[in-house]
Amino acid sequence: MDMGGNKASTRIAILGAGMSGLGMVAKLKEAGYQAITLFEKSGGVGGTWRDNTYPGCGCDVPSHLYSYSFDLNPDWDYKWSLQPQILKYFEDFADKHDLRRHCRFNTEITDCRWSDIDNVWTLTDQAGGQHTADVLVSGLGQLNIPYTPDFPGKETFKGAAFHSARWDHSVDLKGKTVAVIGNGPSAVQFVPEIQKVAGKLLNFQRSPAWCRPRGQRTYTDADKRSFRRQPWRINWYRWRIRAYADFGFGAFLMNSPMGLSNAMRKMCQDHLEDQVKDAGLRAKLQPDFDPGCKRILISDDYYPALCQPNVEVLRQGITEVTEDGVIGEDGQAHPCDVIIWATGFNATDFLTPMEVHGRNGLSLNEAWRDGAEAFKGVAVSGFPNFFLLYGPNTNLGHNSIILMVEHQINYVIQCIDRIAGAKVAAIDVTPQAMEAYNVRVQSEIAKTVWAANCESWYKTDAGKITNNWYGRTTDYKKETAAPDWADFEVIDR
Ligand code: NAP
Repeated sequence: MDMGGNKASTRIAILGAGMSGLGMVAKLKEAGYQAITLFEKSGGVGGTWRDNTYPGCGCDVPSHLYSYSFDLNPDWDYKWSLQPQILKYFEDFADKHDLRRHCRFNTEITDCRWSDIDNVWTLTDQAGGQHTADVLVSGLGQLNIPYTPDFPGKETFKGAAFHSARWDHSVDLKGKTVAVIGNGPSAVQFVPEIQKVAGKLLNFQRSPAWCRPRGQRTYTDADKRSFRRQPWRINWYRWRIRAYADFGFGAFLMNSPMGLSNAMRKMCQDHLEDQVKDAGLRAKLQPDFDPGCKRILISDDYYPALCQPNVEVLRQGITEVTEDGVIGEDGQAHPCDVIIWATGFNATDFLTPMEVHGRNGLSLNEAWRDGAEAFKGVAVSGFPNFFLLYGPNTNLGHNSIILMVEHQINYVIQCIDRIAGAKVAAIDVTPQAMEAYNVRVQSEIAKTVWAANCESWYKTDAGKITNNWYGRTTDYKKETAAPDWADFEVIDR
């Protein structure tokens, strides 16, 4: 809804040139906005697909669904794309939509403050530079700050050590003893690759995870030609993947319909039994929580890699790092040359360490002290003209996050249209609307398997599920189709 206002002059600041930020800028441009600045702390576009370069890095969402609906790619090489092609997709997207001229690279925003007097955001970057914007949109997402646990003795280790999301390609793993801490989606992708070169690989697993087959396939030139020449094919193909994944969401409900949860458990259990013939190893890899409670791993080569003679699976965490290795929870020393932290991200911290201050100086960290929450995942009461993409309670365990982000972009642009309208200075979701929404989210999410018997990055230490959406992507699409202005306070100019 354009209220006949100031699209050309509305200054919009976007943080992060990853999937969300780039999509937001492209759609804002299409909607007629011009004064858009995208701040990116690194030197290029691509976000997580620029940061994560570990061997075997790829996406566990099918390629045709892990792309914008408004920029489908007929040229994917694989059903499950690898990182270089995904990064290229986003780089090409930035070029095609002429997004780079909006980007300020190597500019990390560290502080954002709302002025109640001027109704503007002031952003401060790491060099002390200041930038003013009418609207602030965070495209930082949930998985951008790598987490490395602070084990005693970490700094004394004499070998190389790095996090999977900051892979040190200068370290030659050939013949080395490598300790991999963790067994999440990142580890399962790189372990099969480094197993081939390492002398010995120790995989520490505090809690073995459920894993389902991947079934990689290559798209032939004929497939690509038909996707290109007959766009209905690519749209139909994509629609089917989305619908199938949304149907499968039932497996993530405690009260799962049509035996979907049992079917998922059986698929994963069969995969383990088919691929791991050694009973001792199989027992070590047997998960002890409900499937889906943590993200389900998707791999055809992880279990086979763990069966190789140069691999040892340790069903335990570590307690300490020493000069020449790690100490397992059983007290045993495990010497190694390299430690790879596959320990995930500070997912429940959302925007920290950045400081965000809204009305009356209210701090976002303070507002979120009991766990992050937002209205429909995109707006936070007390923080006018501020929107989040891939914010609290919008992550999925069963479908593509790009779908969710596109729905958010659509919703946020309608909000920005209102802000750009005549006489409007700002909009702020009311505390009542936000509270009612989050009570509903938490009561619905209690019915999902994420609330079951495991720890995961979907929840805070206190057990509040701050990261995941509780339903299908189509439910979220309905939820975010259009703002209801009764949910917002409108601040006049
Ligand atoms: P993750 O799922 O959070 O896994 C972290 C691993 O580190 C877990 O095995 C965890 O063990 C272990 N760990 C954490 N702290 C530890 C500690 N103090 N001591 C010992 N072990 C510890 O991280 P991730 O594998 O990087 O994946 C994170 C998310 O990134 C995924 O869920 C996914 O959304 C995304 N991702 C996506 C793709 C993709 O293909 N789309 C690929 C990679 C990553 P516990 O389980 O026992 O806590």
